[in-house]
Amino acid sequence: MFGPGLLFVVSGPSGAGKDTLVGALRARMPRLKYSVSATTREPRAEESDGEDYFFLSHGEFKRRQAANEFLEYREYNGHLYGTPRDFVEKMLMEGYDLIMKPEVNGALSIKSTFPDAALIFLLPDKFSHLRGRLLARRTETNDEIARRLEIAHEEMKHIGQFDYLLINEDRRSDEAVSDLEAIVRAERFRIHRWGEDSIRKLEHS
Ligand code: 5GP
Repeated sequence: MFGPGLLFVVSGPSGAGKDTLVGALRARMPRLKYSVSATTREPRAEESDGEDYFFLSHGEFKRRQAANEFLEYREYNGHLYGTPRDFVEKMLMEGYDLIMKPEVNGALSIKSTFPDAALIFLLPDKFSHLRGRLLARRTETNDEIARRLEIAHEEMKHIGQFDYLLINEDRRSDEAVSDLEAIVRAERFRIHRWGEDSIRKLEHS
């Protein structure tokens, strides 16, 4: 184990609803820390630097990558995305639980560094809904959407390496948030999370 904090990794194809789901969970569980990723893609209209992403130039991303400042990084649809190392390590050491939402290969890299991380694969109730959701948010061109759907099929091949499959049903997203909350709460109660000292203390209390 890296530190006393727990790491939750929500992944799955673009359009599955990771952003909304994780946002809603954070509103319910304010002590849960969120790992803000760095990216070289342009900010969308409603996004702000330091909250949604750290928006970096290509050169600055490469500099940080060379300085080993990312726990993992990936090129996704022509842009670079990476998880800043310092924040994650610090929060886990300090005992905070942490959530992040990288794409699938990034999630698997995180698992190889932190085998104890809980990997959650998010999907809509029908795979064909991904396209509709990407169209509805109007943030990508048709070519980009087609590419994201191709990537989604690739990502499905790795589902067996995840710990949980969570379904985000249209119009029932509250239920998905509750399911995710249940996973976070259940993980906290696993026997090996307690530590021998706290169990001994309980026994002698
Ligand atoms: P978007 O451009 O839609 O915000 O993100 C595109 C993809 O990159 C999404 O699947 C998102 O989960 C993923 N992503 C965001 N941050 C990171 C990161 O730090 N590392 C990796 N590997 N993927 C990320």
